[in-house]
Amino acid sequence: MTKGQILVISGPSGSGKSTLVNRLMQEESDIYFSISSTTRAIRDGEKDGVNYHYISVDEFKDGILNDEFLEWAMVHKNYYGTSIKPVLEALESGKTVIFDIDVQGFNIVKDKFKDEITSVFITTTNCVELRNRLVNRATDEPKVIERRIMNAIGEMEHIKAYDYFLINDDLEKSYRGFKAIYESMKFKTASINLRDVIESWIN
Ligand code: 5GP
Repeated sequence: MTKGQILVISGPSGSGKSTLVNRLMQEESDIYFSISSTTRAIRDGEKDGVNYHYISVDEFKDGILNDEFLEWAMVHKNYYGTSIKPVLEALESGKTVIFDIDVQGFNIVKDKFKDEITSVFITTTNCVELRNRLVNRATDEPKVIERRIMNAIGEMEHIKAYDYFLINDDLEKSYRGFKAIYESMKFKTASINLRDVIESWIN
């Protein structure tokens, strides 16, 4: 069993997932954010190696053939995937690894790491709010925005597969909820090594 824990967050882009994660990472040092690889175009304001590793379709397909991904999925007509190696290293060193992945990726990771996973689905109050945020962000064409909204509606069918559901309508309130979820992970019995606990309790 690995030492670290996994926190999976899913939900439409524009729901404020990154804001919550970035704030948590400023406050907590023991977190490793899994930087995915993607074939989608880099957006204004994003940085290669920070938001994603931006790679070509051929490079991505090579990664699939070489078993480099813990999971991968086609989302909004682009490939997205999580590299195995850095994730396993971070887990081995006892870190909490955060994945921002879609529902398909979550289902794969859940099968591989049953005991180490806590999951939260984050979204906006409604689809009007999501559309407003995506339009104001001005990083996607109207056609892409509509595709993202349709995808978001489809993903909501899977909310019950997640441990927690967070509507990000008020940043302060949502952050308190998000942090509480993160804190609660440390107390899950599924993640402890029972032998170690009893051993150290006796001695
Ligand atoms: P965006 O293009 O807005 O950054 O992300 C689009 C969607 O892809 C989001 O729902 C995000 O959670 C998902 N995503 C990002 N990285 C990965 C990944 O490595 N694997 C999977 N399955 N989904 C990802």
